[in-house]
Amino acid sequence: MSPVKTSARLSSPITILEGIGPKTAQAFSRLEVHTLEDMFFLIPRRYEDRRNPKPLSDLVPGETACAIARIDEMSVNRGRTEAVISDFSGSARVTWFTDKLGFLNEGMRIALYGPISDRYIIPQFTHPEFEILKYNKAPTLIGKIFPIYPGTADLSQRVIKKHIDNALDNYAPYCLKEFLPKSILNHYGMMSQYDAVIQMHRPVNDDKLIRARNRLAFEELFLLQAGIIMRRRNNSQNVQAREIKPGKYFDAFHDNLPFTLTDAQKTAAYEILQDMEKPYPMNRLLQGDVGSGKTLVAVLAMLACSDSGAQSAFMAPTELLAQQHYINLKSSLEPLGLKVALLTGSLKPHERRNILAGLLDGSINIAVGTHALFSGNVEFCNLALAIVDEQHRFGVLQRNALAAKGISPHVLAMTATPIPRTLIMSVYGDLEVSTLNELPPGRKPIKTIALKYSETGRLRGLVRKHVHRGEQVYWVCPVIEESERGLASVNESFTKLRGIFPELKIAMIHGRLEVEEKAKIMREFSAGSIDVLVATSVIEVGVDVPNASMIVIQDAGRFGLAQLHQLRGRVGRGRAESVCVLLENRNITDEGRDRLAVMVESSDGFALAEQDLRTRGAGEICGTHQHGVTDFRVADLVRDEKILLLARDEARKVLELDPDLRHEPDLKREIMRRLGKVLELAVTS
Ligand code: ADP
Ligand code: MG
Repeated sequence: MSPVKTSARLSSPITILEGIGPKTAQAFSRLEVHTLEDMFFLIPRRYEDRRNPKPLSDLVPGETACAIARIDEMSVNRGRTEAVISDFSGSARVTWFTDKLGFLNEGMRIALYGPISDRYIIPQFTHPEFEILKYNKAPTLIGKIFPIYPGTADLSQRVIKKHIDNALDNYAPYCLKEFLPKSILNHYGMMSQYDAVIQMHRPVNDDKLIRARNRLAFEELFLLQAGIIMRRRNNSQNVQAREIKPGKYFDAFHDNLPFTLTDAQKTAAYEILQDMEKPYPMNRLLQGDVGSGKTLVAVLAMLACSDSGAQSAFMAPTELLAQQHYINLKSSLEPLGLKVALLTGSLKPHERRNILAGLLDGSINIAVGTHALFSGNVEFCNLALAIVDEQHRFGVLQRNALAAKGISPHVLAMTATPIPRTLIMSVYGDLEVSTLNELPPGRKPIKTIALKYSETGRLRGLVRKHVHRGEQVYWVCPVIEESERGLASVNESFTKLRGIFPELKIAMIHGRLEVEEKAKIMREFSAGSIDVLVATSVIEVGVDVPNASMIVIQDAGRFGLAQLHQLRGRVGRGRAESVCVLLENRNITDEGRDRLAVMVESSDGFALAEQDLRTRGAGEICGTHQHGVTDFRVADLVRDEKILLLARDEARKVLELDPDLRHEPDLKREIMRRLGKVLELAVTS
């Protein structure tokens, strides 16, 4: 036995394989294959069923088939090679679009795989793959389920297969070690990792292939879940949180609401209160489509904290949103005798000093702000609850910033961009989830239409109709100023719209305005004294002006689905019939047009989020790409929800019985090997 082979590791470079020099290695690196491990886990893109050669008389035009036959005649004609072949059942023709097949001769036996043309009376293989059959060698092209690998121009399927076969035959037995607990393997009758890898490349039948795939998907999801649970435990070992119970503030607010809570709001509030009664920190995500009333649930949770003599903090992703929340909370909570403060990055030094003092001495009950809330020298007297609104905008790992400051409040993250459950679980692990799956009563569906640039007449008519009814309009552009990219800009549209609608009150808002200026404009818009507000996507999340009933999104093809859905959610919040107009850009891509079509079709945020996940991938949505958390080799968060649930349950069980994995050293090593960086990063961020 060669010493090289036995000392090979998963991390060995593929150049240790015979026949792989710098040039081939370079070609493989384009497939992101650098190590033996990458080679083992280069998963075929698809498979072709080449198991059963067909008698030539059974070939059906239109199908792709394989056969074994004898060459009876060969001829070369204008760059083509033609053959007549036969077997015991009949004969067929073959055409190859090349004249370089001089090595084929009459009398040879060949195996073929390719499409059967339906243009001729006698069946014809059109440019099939083939191989000459020798007496003492089994065919390699047919007689099996045949893997097709992701390819590159400089690496043929044949070469890829040759090297993978070599790696599997000579190295896999030394490199691939089982690490899943025996109990799991036995209980589910799971294949070993070695068998699963072999089956992925050389499946013997569909059933085995599916089992192999599921085993490898399970393995990835299981390792991630176990890693997340271990990380969470390290972070929160012995961490105490304040026990919270609702009291008089809660009741006073609740009893004076001008409407009744939706059932979904009641359930969510109940779940949150239950969590906060416990002496360890809540870790919950509240998700609900735009307009489902998440803020109100958050307010109830904050009031329970005030009742228990503790502070709460409400963090918003933008200053604009923080201000809006501040204004609303102040007007509804200060009458109860609670003190609400706003802390953002743009406070004047003396204002900031005052607020910091109030947070430290406890005279401020509720702090609203941007991420400035948890930065640098901000200290709380007794923070018991941190609410993170529109969580996805903060990136996944930022939640740990609080823990790093040595405080462990209950955490409630809220998002209106529904993150598919599979994604939440794979990224956050044992995070609990409450979902607002209904909108408050009386909401009318938002009509969505896609318009071309040429349809300006119709658009003007629509804007006038809404304004004349006393309602208001958002007009969203992708950029602030004209750019080379030729995108619609706030400046330009503002000027144009003022020319078109001289009788209307039009204003603009974008990220470059002073904070005070932005706040003033939003106040005026809320008060109804602005008819049309031209804006960038700063108004994307959270902004709540129920009298706005129309939103126009210029160059809509430039925005992602989740963002479009968020923007659309700015209207349809009041009693008026609302409309969302998606204006196509002049040079819209096919993808962009597809997205607009999806928006017109669907108003279900969850369906849209799944679509987004499918087309953009998890890493991009959650900003986890650079951490590699969701870069799976086999697992697919859309397809594998069941496996994910199973993996989570099994990971919980294993770690409950054996918290330090003392009895599963191989498993522990594998978790650290695959997730070490991610876990470290998460712990320290
Ligand atoms: P989101 O979930 O998008 O953050 P908001 O919290 O901004 O939604 O709520 C949207 C609007 O619905 C607000 O104007 C809010 O006052 C109102 N609202 C919330 N709950 C109810 C309810 N149960 N009945 C009627 N209106 C409600
Ligand atoms: Mg909101």
